[in-house]
Amino acid sequence: MSKYSTLQQVQEAIRTGKESCEGLVRYYLSRIEATEELNAYVEVYADEALEHARRLDARYRQDSEAVGRLFGMVLSHKDVICYKDHGVTAGSRILEGFTSLFSATAIERLLAEDAILIGRVNCDEFAMGSTNETSVYGPTRNAADPDRVPGGSSGGSAVAVQSDTCLASLGSDTGGSVRQPAAFCGVAGFKPTYGRISRYGLLAYGSSFDQIGILSNSVEDTALLLEVMAGPDDYDSTASQLPVPPYSQLLSFDKKARVAYFNTALEHPSLDDSIRTACQSLIGQLREAGHEVEGVDFEYLDYIIPAYYVLTTAEASTNLSRYDGIRYGYRSPNATDLMSTYKKSRTEGFGTEVKRRIMLGTFVLSSGYYDAYYSKAQKVRRLIKDKTDEIFREYDFILMPAAPGTAWKLGDKADDPVAMYLADIFTVQANMVGIPALCLPVGQDAEGMPVGIQFMAPMFEEAKLLAFGKNVASLIG
Ligand code: GLN
Repeated sequence: MSKYSTLQQVQEAIRTGKESCEGLVRYYLSRIEATEELNAYVEVYADEALEHARRLDARYRQDSEAVGRLFGMVLSHKDVICYKDHGVTAGSRILEGFTSLFSATAIERLLAEDAILIGRVNCDEFAMGSTNETSVYGPTRNAADPDRVPGGSSGGSAVAVQSDTCLASLGSDTGGSVRQPAAFCGVAGFKPTYGRISRYGLLAYGSSFDQIGILSNSVEDTALLLEVMAGPDDYDSTASQLPVPPYSQLLSFDKKARVAYFNTALEHPSLDDSIRTACQSLIGQLREAGHEVEGVDFEYLDYIIPAYYVLTTAEASTNLSRYDGIRYGYRSPNATDLMSTYKKSRTEGFGTEVKRRIMLGTFVLSSGYYDAYYSKAQKVRRLIKDKTDEIFREYDFILMPAAPGTAWKLGDKADDPVAMYLADIFTVQANMVGIPALCLPVGQDAEGMPVGIQFMAPMFEEAKLLAFGKNVASLIG
């Protein structure tokens, strides 16, 4: 049980003199210590966060109006998001000892509104994975059952919120890495439209898929954090120029929504009964509340994973070529000349999964195979986008499981990369198309493991999606 679940509760406690930023940070630091065996944090900014909190408290005491909108918001951030003068390693040996030279735009904007950063959290190496097991720091564990994975790749972020060590956390979502761990840990996970939040300062995995996302306890906090971080940025030409609506003020949803779900998803052979039942019961609740929910045909579901893994590995092979032992982080002490510096540094610096993807990506881009794999996957991406757009001409949202099952045991899929990839089947569509998606906790399976269900909306319809999400959260209770 969290001490505070929303920023509004925190700010109310501060306003009535029951709490201070310093008290909050002390509380969260004690939680980090108490939950150390979950391995969520890679680095804790203890002294700095306390010092920052004291400065904010002093400013507030002088003038309670002189603080930003995120006053009292204690955050952690995934180890792929740069924070100036702090380490950032993407859970990889190859960035050992590397310090960020600048802060991500998202981080700058959060700090400008007086958020406090308490630490950097664990993730799969270069955000490649679905369990946190590929991190050089070892896996993060699910607080609901420490023998189980937290999901990934933003598993540290999900567990940090789940175990009440911060109020919210920044993750990144290339193919589900915010929503799937949110589902596995019973917190809210949100991926914005591609280009809604600047990617400046986010270590790249698949640049045409990557987005910074938010893990929190509530839609309200998600909306406010999005509002603060979103918007154009001179440092990222893919950041949208569209004005940012005041999401946190637009959370009422009083119309009847038209919601689609895919028959192929709910009938999918990989889907656990517990998840199917959870979807069906949510569909029932939505209908009872007057929303229209219908099954539609979507014949591309089984093509999503192969296309995603061709395209993202291709992009990753290019993005990760910069880690060459010369410019960043790890350099092999065994190298004797330039070629062996490249080869040995990369061989020793990257883990198995990252190397597998670099090789796969290099292969699908190679001249003899480009048309057979890369071009074809691009065409599949287009088909999926067109079909999704077509569905959104008739429906406001698409309801989808977040994952085929709940969190599995550590090690269960670690030796079977294909089984691991296939478990991303329900999350990657949002990234293939670039649309926003919100995953909400809806209950637990028979073993007490959290279940999450997501809703997707058309590009840049986050205001509508979040308002509906708040409505859905109140239905679930
Ligand atoms: N599990 C997916 C992958 O390994 C998603 C990762 C992500 O969203 N960063 O690619």
